[in-house]
Order: sequence, then C-alpha cells, then structure tokens
Amino acid sequence: MSLQFYNTITHRKEKFNPISDEIVKIYTCGPTVYNSAHIGNFRTFLFEDLLKRYLIYKGYNVYHVMNITDVDDKTIKRAKKDKKLFEKLTSKYSALFMKDIEFLKIIPADIYPRATDHIEEMIQMIANLEKDGIAYLSKDNSVYFRLSKDKDYGRLTNLNLSELKSTDRVINDEYSKDNPQDFSLWKSWDSEDGDIFWDSPWGRGRPGWHIECSAMSIKYLGEHFDIHCGGVDNIFPHHENELAQSISVTNKQFVNYWMHSEHLQLKGDKMSKTQGNFYTISDLISKGFLAEEIRFVILSAHYRTKLTFSIEQCSEARSAIQRITSLYNRLINIANRNLSKFKLPSEYQDFITALDNDLDTPKALAVFFKWIRSINTKLNNDHDMNNGEIYGGIEFLNIVDNVFGFLIKENFAPQEVHSLTVEREKYRRTGDWEAADQIRHKIYELGWIVEDGSDGPNIKPKK
Ligand code: AMP
Ligand code: ZN
Repeated sequence: MSLQFYNTITHRKEKFNPISDEIVKIYTCGPTVYNSAHIGNFRTFLFEDLLKRYLIYKGYNVYHVMNITDVDDKTIKRAKKDKKLFEKLTSKYSALFMKDIEFLKIIPADIYPRATDHIEEMIQMIANLEKDGIAYLSKDNSVYFRLSKDKDYGRLTNLNLSELKSTDRVINDEYSKDNPQDFSLWKSWDSEDGDIFWDSPWGRGRPGWHIECSAMSIKYLGEHFDIHCGGVDNIFPHHENELAQSISVTNKQFVNYWMHSEHLQLKGDKMSKTQGNFYTISDLISKGFLAEEIRFVILSAHYRTKLTFSIEQCSEARSAIQRITSLYNRLINIANRNLSKFKLPSEYQDFITALDNDLDTPKALAVFFKWIRSINTKLNNDHDMNNGEIYGGIEFLNIVDNVFGFLIKENFAPQEVHSLTVEREKYRRTGDWEAADQIRHKIYELGWIVEDGSDGPNIKPKK
C-alpha cells in the first residue's frame, strides 16, 4: 500500500502526492497564547508531530510552519486594555509553549511566525480583497468578507450559503455587517481594547483571526502548499474562512490535503480552556509523568477518533513504555558489536502498512507489541537469536522510536550494568539466589536498580 491520508475536503482517503519532490510543506495552526496550552491542544500538536516524523521516516524533507496566535479577542480581553501587559502575557505563554514542546519531544517547526509581526501582510491581503470588491468597509470601520461574492464558499464543510443562514454556527456579534454570515477581516478599535490596536487604512483596529493564518501561510509556504492541519474545531469557521480568503486573493488551490485531529475529552466533554476542564503539561509533570508516557496515551488512539483522557491511562502507559525500553536494553546488551548484516522482523512490514493507511497507530502498535511479546518469550527461553536478528530488533525499536518517540534514552544503563544483569540471570535460572542477590547489590552500588518483570529483568536508574 502506498502512503495515504484522509483529506477533510474530499471526505476520503487519498494517495499522498507531494507538490514537489524536494520538500513537503506543512502549515499547522498554533496555540492562542493567552493561557497555557492544555493536553487537548497537545493531542493535535502530537498528531502533527507524528505526521511529520512519519513523513521524515518515509524519506521526505519537510518544511513546517506553525503560527503563534498572539492577538485575538481572548488575548486582548485578558490584557485589560494595556499593551505592555498584552505583550508580557503573550510572550510568557509563548515561552511556556516552547518549553512544553521541548519536554514532549515534539520536533520543532522550522519557523513559528507570530501574528503581531505580520500585521502589514494581513493589511495588504485585506486591501487586495477590498480592491476586488470581496471585502467591504462597514459603518463602524471594520472590514468584512462578503460571502455572497464567493460562489464556492463551504468547500470544507459542504455548507452552502442558504444552509449557513439557517444555522446558529455564525456568531452574529457584529451589527454593521451587510449580511450576518459575513465574517470580519479587520475589527475596528473599541474602547474595551484600550491601547491595544494597530493602524491601518481603515483606522485603528486589529486583524480577524482567520486572516492571520492566510497571511502567514502564504508568506512562508507560497500560494499553494501540501498539508494544512489543526483540530476538528478549526474546520469551521476558521479553516473554511481561511480557505475562502486565500483562494479569493490568489485564485490558486491553496492546500492539497487538509488533515484534522479529533478532540481530546475529559469525562465526556471537549477539553477546553474556556470551560476550564483541562490538564496542562506542567500538571502532568507534577504528577510524575514522563513525556514518553503522555505521548503513548495520545498516540495509541487513532487521530480521527475521540479520545477520553484520564490520569489512570498515563499510569497504564508507564508499563508499556517500560516494556519497550527494557527490551531495547536487553537487545543492546546481548548484541555483538561487530555487526555485518541485520534483518528487520517480519512484523515491520505490517507496522508500516498500518501507518501508511492514514496513520493507523492502534494497528501499528498492536503489531509492535505482538512482536515484543514473541521476542521476550524467545529471550526468556534462551532461544538462539543470531546477531542479525538481534540487530534487526534493535533497528525496529529505533524505527518505532523515530516515529513515536517512546524510548527513554537517558535511562540506558552502562555496559557494565548490562553484563552484571546477564550474569545475575544465569544465577537466578540455576536457583543460586545468594549469588543473584550479591550481583543485584553491586548493580545498586553502580546507581541502578534491577527489577524482575514477566518480560525479563528491567533496569532503572536509582532515584
Ligand atoms: P487554540 O490554542 O485554542 O487556538 O488551539 C490550538 C490547537 O489545539 C488547534 O489546532 C485546536 O483545534 C486544537 N484543540 C483545541 N482543543 C482541543 C481538544 N480538546 N482536543 C484536540 N485538539 C484541540
Ligand atoms: Zn489557523
């Protein structure tokens, strides 16, 4: 099977064909920095990380842009009319976001453009739309996108204009629009904004949220690029409107593949900052969870299914991560360093076939854990494994780690500890518990703890 992704705009899985052989261009909607990002946001960011890691594994070069939404209604509201406070607030939460990205082992984007650094580009785009009669200035000096001028509006959601009129999905909080469905490109200043505003041909104000992503994606990726991602709540109105604006300015297709991850829920509700039902990454760190465990909980569900998050899942993930790490330790320990050839296990192909099929992570991980079970049984029963097979196993674990980021590499014990563990296993098998205990003590003095699990010995650093 060749690589295929579910494309939101066509509602089906499609073979992935990049625009250029040289580089795959991806735009992902970044965080709104008025608060700490929560684990729901990170479900989307981890899905995007998996997508990127897999494309890299498949041999593509990836250029990734993630914007930082540092101006919108929420950031302005929290800054209470004060531009200095506004800048302090958005810098603080941008920096926290970067720390969380690093902690979670998310491969950083190539660039993180901030909306407030691109006001000029947004103004230019709005001016172009106005020149073409697609945007209009309202009585209150805001600028709106005239939906009736875009006959194909509703490309992503399949909503047409008459359906839109009959839904309550359009927030009609602006009174001076020609039509309630029109959405704002530029919002005029209001006394609630205090000294947070930018000058424009239409007077003081600030950009609408959707134009931010149109301007920044086109600036950094061009008028037509490969993949645009976000969570499902971004589909409407954000991406629908972003697409309408971009196509109206460029007359190009804009994006080939739209990919959206489903929501992370907490007790049946969408995790969200506005509802206050969320865990941040620092909440999870303070509960003692590791990045690998959090990654495991999120990535073991398919990105297009809803996932209910719980603290118990993180605890369960702990044993899965330990099994992976201890098998890696075991194989490294018995591998003969003079490697000539290795053979990947037969499960590898099934693992790749699952990921090629729209990143089917539950299936890929089921295959992987089946392999872990069988290899541990072999090792426990002293079945002969040749060096090629051992290295094939190490290589498979490295591949899984490249794609999922599950291995706890800093927990790899030095060779001496591995050799002692092997020696201790021999004593244990012959029932010489005293000798086994003496070695356990030696290992402890070297700073490591050896635990006997059902998969075999597990080596952990002494805390
Ligand atoms: P925001 O900071 O609200 O702009 O959101 C940043 C990203 O997180 C967007 O791509 C959202 O679609 C996504 N997102 C927000 N809440 C959730 C959730 N509960 N589950 C998954 N993704 C989410
Ligand atoms: Zn966006």
